[in-house]
Amino acid sequence: MIGSGPGGALTAWSLAKDGHSVTLIEAGPRLRRPDFGQSIGHMLASYFWDGGARTSRGNVVFPTMQVRALGGGTVFNSAICMRPLESALERWRDEHGLTEMTSEMLDPHFDAVETFLNIKAADDDILGRRNELFREACSELGWEWEHIKRFEEGCVGSGECITGCRAGAKNSLDKRGVAEVVQAGGRVYTSVHIDQLIVEHGRVRGAVGMTVDPETYERRHPVRIHAGCTIVSAGAIGTPTILRRSGLTRPAVGSALRFHPSCYIIGVFDEEVNPWFGATQGIHATEHLEKGIKLEALWATASTFSRTLPKRPKQFKRYLKRWPNMAVWDGWVSGDASVGDVRVLPGGRPDIRWQMGDADLRRLQETNALLCEMYAAVGAKEVFTGIVGLPDVMDPREAADRLREGRFERTEMPTASNHVFGGSPMGTDEERAVCDGWGQVYGIDDLYICDTGLYPSSPGVNPQLTAMALAHRLGQELPERY
Ligand SMILES: Cc1cc2nc3c(=O)[nH]c(=O)nc-3n(C[C@H](O)[C@H](O)[C@H](O)COP(=O)(O)OP(=O)(O)OC[C@H]3O[C@@H](n4cnc5c(N)ncnc54)[C@H](O)[C@@H]3O)c2cc1C
Ligand code: SF4
Repeated sequence: MIGSGPGGALTAWSLAKDGHSVTLIEAGPRLRRPDFGQSIGHMLASYFWDGGARTSRGNVVFPTMQVRALGGGTVFNSAICMRPLESALERWRDEHGLTEMTSEMLDPHFDAVETFLNIKAADDDILGRRNELFREACSELGWEWEHIKRFEEGCVGSGECITGCRAGAKNSLDKRGVAEVVQAGGRVYTSVHIDQLIVEHGRVRGAVGMTVDPETYERRHPVRIHAGCTIVSAGAIGTPTILRRSGLTRPAVGSALRFHPSCYIIGVFDEEVNPWFGATQGIHATEHLEKGIKLEALWATASTFSRTLPKRPKQFKRYLKRWPNMAVWDGWVSGDASVGDVRVLPGGRPDIRWQMGDADLRRLQETNALLCEMYAAVGAKEVFTGIVGLPDVMDPREAADRLREGRFERTEMPTASNHVFGGSPMGTDEERAVCDGWGQVYGIDDLYICDTGLYPSSPGVNPQLTAMALAHRLGQELPERY
């Protein structure tokens, strides 16, 4: 198993709990609670690929962050778990021949993962005003909303999932998943970077790589691992990079790379919000999901978001002092109209390309407008949109109107995404797909993929839970095949 995020760690757990032999390899280090701090710059530089400064190239500058640590994205993510939309699964069945992707067939695997990780709705007492105001805005507008379901036990609402859970409450997969693999006798090696697979006579026989220094990532000693079956779970960008470096270069490998482009708006209230308190993301609006738009209350560290405040020094300082009165809410869109790919640069690093389509740009515009409408509904006095061409500080209702009336260019609308999927799409058409609906790679034996890279299109919700369910399913199926 290569990679210990939702795909890798939970496939390993699913196999190991039933007594099967597993070796899990992870490029990043194992982190403990004292490793976490409140400096986001330090966390990004230390535990994210490319120091957290990864971007794709294409028709817009598009930052994206992927974690490099035991447990993958779960160590620093917001722990949001949602089952895919029924309409998304229907699309996977109809457009990609994935007839096994029905709720009926996947539900037992979702149930198993949700129970194992203690996935539950955020409690009222740890919401904080930032989430409560978001909930009130949804109610004012008559929209459907939910308490977000997350994997945690004893969340204290510190709002710092992005820099690691110092309370030890988040059930990230290094803590829950990898631990059980070790207890069951599985082997786990951290700080081992896999460069390529061992391919012999049309079969994969394991992988080769190097140990890396856990702090500097300097390459140290060669590693060779032999396996009867290899599962690559290095994430939507990491997996095609390994496959391509191994000579598996047919056009489908690395294709259909997709993101959920996101945006955020800051609102200023008369009342104190103290936005640093509260579940990192505690409430979301489910009202617009079928339109490809999701709205969420977001975490709100001044060090990350103050770049959206007015830039003139005196004004910046004045507003920064008002941070206790602010909230940050975000939205993301399905990304259906946008697509990219992963290729490999000389030296072996991934080359990520992505083109934002017009329909997603318009959806982002509407998402920003909806967020402003929400702020207006609960009496925010001002909003900061960060959108080029709009005033630095705006009345929320005026901002919503301008966003609906205007026609913005891609380069004017700040966007980024940490939800990446595709790159190793599954499907029945071997020209378009890398693997079948079980993640078994076409054209080569003993090789499987299990990560968000499998999704042929957006699951319509935050991506990780679907990969976890597919991982549990694969772990239950593989012993039947070997
Ligand atoms: C800040 C942030 C917040 C997010 N919040 C949420 C959320 O609340 N809900 C949600 O659903 N999603 C969220 N996401 C996205 C979510 O974390 C990812 O979709 C998910 O982690 C992907 O799982 P994966 O198994 O595909 O890959 P990953 O979690 O990326 O795991 C891949 C692992 O493989 C390792 N790896 C890569 N290459 C190699 C190699 N060559 N050799 C060895 N190991 C390698 C990586 O280090 C990594 O640990 C968030 C992401 C971020 C960054
Ligand atoms: S909000 Fe704080 S306590 Fe709760 S899971 Fe995230 S980091 Fe842990």
